Amino acid sequence: MKRKLAAGNWKMNGTTPSLAELQALVSVHKTPSVDILICPPATLIAQAAGISADSTIMIGAQDCHAAASGAHTGDISAPMLADAGAGAVILGHSERRENHNETSDLVAKKALAAHAASLIALVCLGETLAQREGAQTLDVIADQLAGSLPDGTTGANTVIAYEPIWAIGTGLTPSLEQIGEVHAFIRSRLDDRFGAGAAQDFRLLYGGSVKPENAAEIFATSNVDGALVGGASLKADDFSPIINALE
Ligand code: 13P
Repeated sequence: MKRKLAAGNWKMNGTTPSLAELQALVSVHKTPSVDILICPPATLIAQAAGISADSTIMIGAQDCHAAASGAHTGDISAPMLADAGAGAVILGHSERRENHNETSDLVAKKALAAHAASLIALVCLGETLAQREGAQTLDVIADQLAGSLPDGTTGANTVIAYEPIWAIGTGLTPSLEQIGEVHAFIRSRLDDRFGAGAAQDFRLLYGGSVKPENAAEIFATSNVDGALVGGASLKADDFSPIINALE
């Protein structure tokens, strides 16, 4: 039985003092009935892994290179992240697709690298506002899903996050019907690609302006197995109630 997942993406936020927030989560959520993942900036991964070592909280990264090593100044490989104590890595976040011109093809290569390093790949998909208004959402999601997942993807080595770009950091969220529609669509496409029944093993997360106030209703939506949370994951006082709403 797959466990639900509350994932926090700190993005480019946090220095050593911020680890007090992780420490607070470790203290409060000692035996959670859901999985908890915190993805701090790469500079904090090793320290964060130390803090969470005796807890069930997993530490993740926010990106990796597609190669295991080599002449790639400034990049970090999946084996390096695993060595630092990460158990997962966010891939294809819209901020990387937009700001670093990451294509779905590159995301798939990164996911392969993550799998080879025994990291869970948390692959992000999502449409722009123009695409939503142009009724292109499902086409965009289908393309990103097909292109971003390598062969060998399973519900054990990969988590999918649906993050509409227009909902990220804006306070806007899709209707529950819209979230449910996209998640059901993703689930059916996973079955088409990986075989009937395979999709049930995948955790499908919703991301975009998840807050303590709206978490419960989002989590009650069918095919939502958790959340990928940005701003509200930075403080334990905000993230903790979101975890509780998932339990
Ligand atoms: P917010 O929760 O700040 O909207 O960010 C969502 C996100 O991008 C998580 O990856």
